[in-house]
Parts: sequence; C-alpha cells; structure tokens
Amino acid sequence: MGKLLKNKNVLVMGVRNRWSIAWGIVKAAHKEGATLIFTYQGEREKEDAENLAAALGCKSVYPCDISSDQDIDGLFSRIKEEYGVIHGLVHAIAYAKSEDIQNSFIHTSRDGFAIALNISVYSLIAVSRRAKELMTEGGSIITLTYLGSERVFPGYNVMGVAKAALEASVRYLAYDLGPLGIRVNAISAGPIKTLSAKAIKNFSGILDDVEKKAPLKRGVTQEDLGDAALYFLSDLSRATTGEVVHVDCGYSVMGVMT
Ligand code: NAD
Repeated sequence: MGKLLKNKNVLVMGVRNRWSIAWGIVKAAHKEGATLIFTYQGEREKEDAENLAAALGCKSVYPCDISSDQDIDGLFSRIKEEYGVIHGLVHAIAYAKSEDIQNSFIHTSRDGFAIALNISVYSLIAVSRRAKELMTEGGSIITLTYLGSERVFPGYNVMGVAKAALEASVRYLAYDLGPLGIRVNAISAGPIKTLSAKAIKNFSGILDDVEKKAPLKRGVTQEDLGDAALYFLSDLSRATTGEVVHVDCGYSVMGVMT
C-alpha cells in the first residue's frame, strides 16, 4: 500500500457498480491509504454499494439522493459525528432524462433541463457547501466532466450544457473555497463504458473515434482516471485549483485528421 492519502478521509459520491468511474477512484484511493466513505443513491443501489464497500473492508456506506437537501444534511451530520473531518470529496454524479438525450437538443423540455442541471451541477454546489464545514484541515473537491461541454457530440445534448455549467461552477467554488485551503478541480474524462454512458446515442462510435484519433491511440481506463484523481486528492496538487484537466489520451487536442 502507498501512502499518498494516508490519514485522509475521502467521501466518494457516485459509485453505482464496479464499472463506475467513482469505483476506479475508490480503488486507487484505497491503495494509497485513504479512509473511504461511500454513498449510493437509494434502495435500488444499496446491495451493489454494500458489496463493493465490503470488498475493501469499508464500513461507512450511506444512502444519499443528491436531489434531496434532507438527505445531504443527514449524510454530512452522520459523517461529522463519525469522522469529524474530511479531506477529500469526489462528486461523480450526473443524470438527464432519457428523452432529453435521445431526441434532438432543440426538443429539450423545461423540466428535463431543470432536472439535468439540478442533479448534475447544483448538487456539486450543495455538497461543497456542506463539505466546507468538515474540511477544517483544508481539502480537495473533484468532479467529473466531459468534452461535450466544449464541443458538440450529437446525443450528449443537455448533458453538454450541464457539464459547461459544472466547469464554470468549479471555478466559482475554487474562488470561494481557496482562502480556506480547499481546492476544487474537474477531471474531463475520455469516454469509458459505464451504466450512464450506455444511455448516450452512438457511444461505441465515440469510443472508436478516440482509439483512432487520440495521440496515445487508445481509450482511457478506470485505472487511468483513478490515478489522475490521486493527484487531485493528494497534496501533490496543492497549488492547483479551479482547473479542468483532460484525462483523455490527448483526444481533445486534435483537429481534423487528414
Ligand atoms: P455511473 O452510472 O457509474 O455513475 C453515475 C452515478 O450518478 C451513479 O452512481 C448514480 O447512482 C448517480 N446518480 C444519479 N442521480 C443521482 C441522484 N439523484 N442522487 C445520487 N446519485 C445519483 O456512470 P459514470 O460514467 O461513472 O459517471 C460518473 C461521472 O463521470 C458523471 O458525472 C459522468 O457524467 C462523468 N463522465 C463519464 C464519462 C463516461 O464516458 N462514462 C466521461 C466523462 C465524464
């Protein structure tokens, strides 16, 4: 076991199953000695989350529907009671209604827009505000974004708009929390097969394109993203905040291929 995250309590929100990006981050953080706290969305995810946590010997696994202030308050008061302080928070949560990523963007409904922005963006602000109270020794907050915030990927639709707002929120949160020694950054992950990704139209075409065009000639893995998160969660990134770092095998730097 390494010790990059020794004596650090890290809260990870968004482990749905063993394919989740958040699970890759959990595994990497566990190897580096972090004490991990997990959340799952609700009853449906309980068994999977508890089985995964048990595999690492992690006892703190709590439900939290991020659209509920009551759930978020309950979670943070429980963590305060049990741990007193946290040093890391991973926000790996996003959601959009299926019709809003199946139809053309122009047909996005008012309700669908509000839901996508609430779950995928406002939630970062909501949890950061509570985390601030427990990050009394400074800390690091990470969220996950995608290139669809900067460029058009047909089918990513309202989620692209949500990710653009998420990245702007990272910068504003970094400004608010910097004086407290709390850093806020985003990893812009290359595409990777997860339950959420399955909902995106032509996702396998997106994966193929990365393998073909990315300078590293491959797609990213869960391990690549876990290791990138270690940089942000650890003191190695002590002077970096408000950033969006692409971890995508270089795909985002490419123009049109001849
Ligand atoms: P995933 O399906 O494994 O994780 C998404 C998580 O969001 C799940 O744990 C789900 O329970 C949670 N969630 C949704 N609504 C919630 C709610 N109301 N309350 C609590 N939790 C809720 O998929 P993933 O791909 O690992 O997604 C994690 C993050 O990574 C997301 O922000 C996603 O947009 C981002 N991302 C994914 C990719 C990719 O290609 N998979 C690329 C870039 C960024």
